[in-house]
Amino acid sequence: MTGPMLLPGATGLNGSGQQTTLGVMGGGQLGRMFVQAAQAMGYFTVVLDPDVISPAGLVSHYHIKTDYLDEQGLTQLLQRCAAVTTEFENVPAGALVTLGAARPTAPSADAVAIAQDRIKEKAHLARSGVPVAPYAVIETAAQLALVADDLLPGILKTARLGYDGKGQVRCSSRAELATAWDALKNVPCVLEQRLPLAAECSVVVARGWDGACVNFAPQLNLHREGILAVTEAYEGNLPPALAAQAVAAAKNIAEELNYVGVLCVEFFVLAEGSPACARLGALVVNEMAPRPHNSGHYTLDACDVSQFDLQVRTLAGLPLTQPRQHSAAVMLNLLGDLWVDEATPRWDQVLALPGVHLHLYGKLKAGKGRKMGHLTVTAATPEQAHSTALAAAKVLGIAPF
Ligand code: ATP
Ligand code: MG
Repeated sequence: MTGPMLLPGATGLNGSGQQTTLGVMGGGQLGRMFVQAAQAMGYFTVVLDPDVISPAGLVSHYHIKTDYLDEQGLTQLLQRCAAVTTEFENVPAGALVTLGAARPTAPSADAVAIAQDRIKEKAHLARSGVPVAPYAVIETAAQLALVADDLLPGILKTARLGYDGKGQVRCSSRAELATAWDALKNVPCVLEQRLPLAAECSVVVARGWDGACVNFAPQLNLHREGILAVTEAYEGNLPPALAAQAVAAAKNIAEELNYVGVLCVEFFVLAEGSPACARLGALVVNEMAPRPHNSGHYTLDACDVSQFDLQVRTLAGLPLTQPRQHSAAVMLNLLGDLWVDEATPRWDQVLALPGVHLHLYGKLKAGKGRKMGHLTVTAATPEQAHSTALAAAKVLGIAPF
């Protein structure tokens, strides 16, 4: 289904005076920031998430607290909203099929089904014009036995339901690979060659129902223990030719999927002079997320339109404008690890630094590795953004970068 234009605010004030309502599947922090962007524009919002105190549910006009496949829940969602989006890729594709039959739904069930499955995803990413890491699909013991030696050392990744480095095991030998596949309960997996990374980056694009596509400049991302820790977003963060190649590849992927919505594509930058770089080139595409992405959170504070604004605009069929970044930015993820011994981190000291934007997601429990919030430092220059972010990291006990 293509999308009609859904103007925000009260419709037909002389008549029923109804408010245009947008729906989102999933109540996490990405849903929360979507809801906040939609509300700022005058939309009403409805979240479907089984968790009674989800970050998005807490701030939405309506919160349907059922399972994602619950028929009544989906019916209520459809009654409430004019269009639906999703905030995480593991929403059952079946639910999006149901929703998509009745309302404009972006991204589509088809696109989400591809992003949910590393095996399908690889095939699409390979058509971006940038190579993927050499890999093998492992669904059977026979495939495991046939794996080429040059894929080791490698990383075994479950085809489905992985995030933040979960569902991944590093293996250096065939024996370790066999043990790893058993540890992952012999579910379908992808074995990827472990590449020598010089850096990682990502590109967020937004594509409308009419095929118009806009993008943010590539972000430079630092991961720690498989979780995004720091994003550096400013001119010169990456060599210009590499940045242009990454943007072109991300747009190709959106186009090739006939994608509608916000899409993030993650890339590896290979160490120059390494044999892998000689074989594959400097840029390798890693994976995609059919939604706004953690590495794009800085756009809330450093750009004239954010990735969440663009999610609202794509869903509602409103015009897309090419984003303009007005400040250099560094984003730090605030993981549950910061709540040492239940003590609240010293936000007062962090907020005393210039250009700090604190975002907390309303989560009540701070588990290790749990994303509790993020902060973005904006500044006039990259050097200032970087040094203030280092000062904030020091206050919070985050290792320097
Ligand atoms: P996300 O939270 O981004 O969804 P994920 O669990 O899906 O993460 P990946 O992006 O596949 O995981 O991998 C997490 C991190 O592990 C990468 O950002 C990178 O640092 C490292 N990594 C993954 N694959 C490789 C590889 N083939 N070679 C080297 N490092 C890798
Ligand atoms: Mg990733």
